Amino acid sequence: MSSTVLKCGKIFDGESQTLLSDQEILVSDGTIVEVAATVNVPSEATVIDLGDRTVSPGFIDAHVHLTMDAANLQMQTLGSTATKALTGLSIARGYLNHGFTTVRDLGAMDPETPTLDLRNAIASGQVTGPRIIAAAHIISPTGGHGDIGGFYPTRWDIPVSALADDRAEVRAAVRREHAIGSDWVKTVNAGGYFSPGDDPAVCTWFDDEMDALCQTARQLGMPVAVHTGAADACKQAIRSGARSLEHAYLIDEEGVRMAAEAGVFIVPTMQMTQEDLQQLNDGTLADQAVWKFSRDAEQILDSQRMVAAGDADIVFGTDCGMFPFDHGIKEFSALVNAGLTPLRALTAATSTAARMLEREDLGRIRPGAAADIVAMPGNPLSDISATEHVDFVMSRGEIIRHSDTGRD
Ligand SMILES: [Zn+2]
Repeated sequence: MSSTVLKCGKIFDGESQTLLSDQEILVSDGTIVEVAATVNVPSEATVIDLGDRTVSPGFIDAHVHLTMDAANLQMQTLGSTATKALTGLSIARGYLNHGFTTVRDLGAMDPETPTLDLRNAIASGQVTGPRIIAAAHIISPTGGHGDIGGFYPTRWDIPVSALADDRAEVRAAVRREHAIGSDWVKTVNAGGYFSPGDDPAVCTWFDDEMDALCQTARQLGMPVAVHTGAADACKQAIRSGARSLEHAYLIDEEGVRMAAEAGVFIVPTMQMTQEDLQQLNDGTLADQAVWKFSRDAEQILDSQRMVAAGDADIVFGTDCGMFPFDHGIKEFSALVNAGLTPLRALTAATSTAARMLEREDLGRIRPGAAADIVAMPGNPLSDISATEHVDFVMSRGEIIRHSDTGRD
């Protein structure tokens, strides 16, 4: 049995309002065994001094696309499944170094299942990487945000989009996702900014289709994540029984209230909006996004402030893949700039995300939890940007990064 003792200057345990001081964490075989001022140190244990760091549960990014490269989506989509999986592995490892020990991947554009293969290889220990929870594909209506056909001349027939156009097709699509081993069902009920031919302000499922999707997922025991935009589309997703609203670009106060009452989580992907705004101002935003984003930018920022001011549970998610993974860590500051307290931003990436994922073993530092642990100089509760300087990463008890020993 391999054991490690972490001597921690300060600990954010994932839930408490304040940092604990001068605590020790005993880790054995990938699990946190004891947290106390002094733990019993097994004779063979490795002892690591993190006395000048703040220690936190490993971060959870609940919205990534490891196999999508927005800057090169057309050509990248045509790549083989193996290429996507191998590239995704390299990206996932890089992301782990920033402190992201768990990611929820919300869809690949591929006829096969590169993200599930990656998930399985990491979970079985064949390769090292962050824990992956995944929806293999994006179930979309024809011409909807998940229909990548809009990027190609019509003569192309590439089976990379999971399309469905009535209740029976929707049910079949969910059943396929279940059969191939997806953890979540991902769908879209409004357009997006980057995809051509659709509009985030327009709802793209009929109520009976969205109901059929959620009912089928519920019957199969799968939670539903919905890319959504228009205020009406946000409310449709909540009424139908979605577990998480992704982006919720144009949600209104009533929608935020409905989400809070129904216990629906909101993953507002705020850093991406900041980068899109910057690109709009610089004149570098993709052509097909310009008319939609310039029309909606103010409303998106208003909606983000409403989400921050409301009582709905907010979960950290970035949509990395749609913009560089190196920028994902900036979501913490984006959340705080929109009005979240640093504590709420940190719980969004730890215990609240774990609650959404129904993973009681993640997002907390306490006995019985997975030993996914990060550390950083400074105090993220007084300056959230400390999260951008993580220099110690432990994933399932294995030390991935430790700058003091040159593992950087
Ligand atoms: Zn996405």
